[in-house]
Formats: sequence, C-alpha cells, structure tokens
Amino acid sequence: MSTVNCCKCGEEKEAIKGVVYGGAIGEEIKRRCCDACWLDWFNGFGVKVINEMQLNMQDPKHTQMLMDQMRMYLTMPKEDG
Ligand SMILES: [Zn+2]
Repeated sequence: MSTVNCCKCGEEKEAIKGVVYGGAIGEEIKRRCCDACWLDWFNGFGVKVINEMQLNMQDPKHTQMLMDQMRMYLTMPKEDG
C-alpha cells in the first residue's frame, strides 16, 4: 500500500486509489492528499460547491474557481513555479 503525507489531515495515510481531476492538478492531489480526505472533498464538499456556486465544469473560469475552493478545503496552497 502506498502512503502519502497528507496536507489536509497531517497524517501519513493511504494514497488516493480512485479517480482525481486530470492534468497537473491531479498529479499534485495524488502526491499531497490522502484517499480519505480526497473522498471527503470529491464526494462531499466539492459536490456542494459545484451545486451552490452553480459551476459549469465546461467553463475554464468555473473550473478554476472549483480548484481554488479545493485548495482551501484541502489546505493545499499553490506550489511555487
Ligand atoms: Zn488526509
């Protein structure tokens, strides 16, 4: 089992097994966030954000807003560079 030092819960826990967002952000999430915290976001709070802010995932601006919310939720500040 691969583990990750999670930026959200601060523990070394099981790495993400399921699907994450595509591209560089997905790789970063897998590297920095554990499976449990990811699922909290992806199946819970993330869905709420999309619904409440009425985000359209086809719209890059909306996708960016979701990513900003996600970084806040996962306490995953943007990496430099
Ligand atoms: Zn975690």
